[in-house]
Amino acid sequence: MTTRTTNNTVGEIAEFLRTLDRVAVTTHVGADGDAIGASAALVRLMHRLGAEAVFCHAEAVPDYLSWLLPDETLRELPPEYDLLVADTSRADRTGVPVPDAGARLNVDHHEDNPLYAEYNLVNPRAAATAEIVADLYTELGVPMDRPTAEALYVGIKTDTGGFNFRNISPRAHELVADLLRAGVVPAEVNERINRRGSIEQLRIVGVSLANAVQYGDALISTVENSDYERTGATEVESKESIDQLRTVAGVDVVAHLREVPNGTKGSLRSETVDVGEVARHFGGGGHRLAAGYTTPRRPGEAREELLSVLEGIVDLGGGQ
Ligand code: AMP
Ligand code: MN
Ligand code: MN
Repeated sequence: MTTRTTNNTVGEIAEFLRTLDRVAVTTHVGADGDAIGASAALVRLMHRLGAEAVFCHAEAVPDYLSWLLPDETLRELPPEYDLLVADTSRADRTGVPVPDAGARLNVDHHEDNPLYAEYNLVNPRAAATAEIVADLYTELGVPMDRPTAEALYVGIKTDTGGFNFRNISPRAHELVADLLRAGVVPAEVNERINRRGSIEQLRIVGVSLANAVQYGDALISTVENSDYERTGATEVESKESIDQLRTVAGVDVVAHLREVPNGTKGSLRSETVDVGEVARHFGGGGHRLAAGYTTPRRPGEAREELLSVLEGIVDLGGGQ
């Protein structure tokens, strides 16, 4: 494998994609709207270029996103297929193991992406990986049909928190206008990806909000196995509370710490503090203002561990 440590241009990647005959697209574990949206659009692009293209991921695609993918998902990388990875900051976070020969393409917008593939198209200024995949359509002169536009729209909408976060640019809004011209009806897309929650999810979100504790400029919520048991909800559903946790005035860093079988998964959000750096303290990573990690500790200890790192970064006040 020839691993490049430099980024490629959109033109170089477009040229490279034209050389491929059989590709499998995957994305990060715990796939979100951009992960699936960008992947679906990339699979469709490769179809349009005349290649055989499939999506593969060891985990089940969340129900609210599965309609974006053109075909059924394979759980493993088929032999003799080139692996293209979307929206994934590190090679150890891919949905299927990367073969010894390496991934052929890494298309992403995480600033800590180490350019782990043979070809890399990483643009941290993009609001979503979907925005970068849209550049490839333009470069290759492939018109966007409605299903492609819907997939890209979901990627941008979800990664920008509904066009609210600091990563949204005029360029992203211009692209969204084009996606609407290509047939996206936002109300219909929203109906398909929102309004899909359950009463169990509503309850775990309530528990998660009730468990929030403020430490000066930081707000930390912990959710434990006993909370899943009494609400009937899952770990992933509890994370739905994170945007509501961000509504507390004067808070600079929000953390959601939820128990998982191997410890605690932490999701960090901020408007001002580099939480990607905080996540890297624990072997995680992500964006500057949205990052995550997994620690082997249980939630209560994970909170103490996090507070000790935040101590030098934000004012934790004197108490709660
Ligand atoms: P989450 O809080 O899980 O929504 O993740 C926020 C951001 O951090 C996403 O861009 C993830 O890709 C990234 N991230 C989450 N967990 C990890 C991890 N364990 N290692 C590296 N990046 C992560
Ligand atoms: Mn993602
Ligand atoms: Mn993304």
